[in-house]
Amino acid sequence: MAGVSYPYPYEAKVSQTLFDRASLVTPGGVNSPVRAFRAVGGTPRFMVSGTGPYLTDADGREYVDLVCSWGPMILGHAHPAVVEAIQAAVARGTSFGTPGEGEVALAEEIVERIEPVEQVRLVSSGTEATMSAIRLARGFTGRAKVVKFAGCYHGHVDALLAAAGSGLATFALPDTPGVTGAQAGDTIVLPYNDLEAVRAAFAAHPGEIACVITEAAPGNMGVVTPAPGFNQGLADLCRADGALYISDEVMTGFRTSRAGWYGVDGVKPDLMTFGKVMGGGFPAAAFGGRADVMGHLAPVGPVYQAGTLSGNPIATAAGLAQLRLLDAAAYEKVDAVSAQIQGLITDALAKEGVAHRLQTASNMFSVFFTEDEVKNYDDAKKQESFRFNGFFHSMLSQGVYLPPSAFESWFVSTAHDEQAVERIAAALPAAARAAAQATPEATA
Ligand code: PLP
Repeated sequence: MAGVSYPYPYEAKVSQTLFDRASLVTPGGVNSPVRAFRAVGGTPRFMVSGTGPYLTDADGREYVDLVCSWGPMILGHAHPAVVEAIQAAVARGTSFGTPGEGEVALAEEIVERIEPVEQVRLVSSGTEATMSAIRLARGFTGRAKVVKFAGCYHGHVDALLAAAGSGLATFALPDTPGVTGAQAGDTIVLPYNDLEAVRAAFAAHPGEIACVITEAAPGNMGVVTPAPGFNQGLADLCRADGALYISDEVMTGFRTSRAGWYGVDGVKPDLMTFGKVMGGGFPAAAFGGRADVMGHLAPVGPVYQAGTLSGNPIATAAGLAQLRLLDAAAYEKVDAVSAQIQGLITDALAKEGVAHRLQTASNMFSVFFTEDEVKNYDDAKKQESFRFNGFFHSMLSQGVYLPPSAFESWFVSTAHDEQAVERIAAALPAAARAAAQATPEATA
């Protein structure tokens, strides 16, 4: 909550000065809401550089980074091969507004990795990818309604902001002003992991639902794993009614395995969306899937979609360099270090008797401060998130940077080595004590 002060003896003077300057010229001082630390209180850290698993802030303090730019930096920061590819691309020119070979190579890499993707269109953000996929699903089916799940976040697309996760969960915003009834009126929001609710929606609106969109494995209400059979059930229900099944892999894509969450559960969507890892830290995202559906896009089909910087040569060079380094050994490494860190967190919290639940989707994970399984957004909201705030600030003061919200996934990289893990391990006992001692009043 805004204006909360924490009793931890650490300062961020330069960050505070920058934040004060930023707050005059930018709403809330940030260009994306969760960065503002409003849920946890305190001064957001302005980062100046990143190397491997570490970030350095404007006050010169180093942190082990467990945010990894909210997912993209799966090889750590400033990986030499990625930096080299970016520098080479920059030297050739930064944007041409024409097709280029980098776009072809990145599209080929995606199609090669993810079998349901026969054709792909590159865009510049995950929001654009989901917005375009939904427009395409509506154009292809000639239907209007869209089913989404409470707690799933698909970017700030008007029609998809209803009961969304990520920043809306962090700030407990049910919806947002500025989205009109007309824009959201065709959105049906259902509880996650509840196949019966989806069945009932199809029964209530036969032939009217254009698509069901879901996070392949949600990370935006904290990590909530799809129940066995849930994604397959969605695919089956869509097929039976002639709707499209859209799997949003912006977060999970190229992270949870070589082929993202599809590589884990093998459920075949009609359309998929990607972002984050595929851009190598640059704005590159994509949507793709069945060739007959993608064939409805302009210029071959009537559904319009475009972008001045789509397939930008620097972004595609960065993404391609990153994807080419992500082989089986890289995923093994990320999975192993993630499991190691998860174990350390559980041990530390258990030692202090803090009720918690660590939930995972492959190497993505988050900690819920509750002992009950979290299967949907309502469960997630029942956690004692005030404990997270104490935990977060203790970790921050000891040089470990966590997502500043109890409703986000944590991310690791191939660069998280033994030294980084040791730093996390050293910080955890005090953080677990802070979580144990936290009270709701401290964040009121
Ligand atoms: N879809 C999912 C699952 C996401 O996690 C996000 C962002 O966190 C988006 C879509 C939106 O992506 P972007 O922030 O690049 O617009």
